[in-house]
Amino acid sequence: MECPHCEQELHYHDYYYTGRPESFYGTAGNGIYYPASNYKKMGDIYKCDNEECEMFDEFFYTDESKELHEGYPC
Ligand SMILES: [Zn+2]
Repeated sequence: MECPHCEQELHYHDYYYTGRPESFYGTAGNGIYYPASNYKKMGDIYKCDNEECEMFDEFFYTDESKELHEGYPC
């Protein structure tokens, strides 16, 4: 993944998701079963380390269709 401003390779930073994370799957201590239903990975978060890009938002993220957007997903 390349930075749209300086074309330098972006560094993988993190990913983001919707729903409950995996640690909540399965049967909890109280015997209630939580199905692994609503967890869904939305995309990856990248960061540009180039000093020239400090004036821009240094974070980028991909959406579900792998398209790159500027900023940080909320
Ligand atoms: Zn850059």
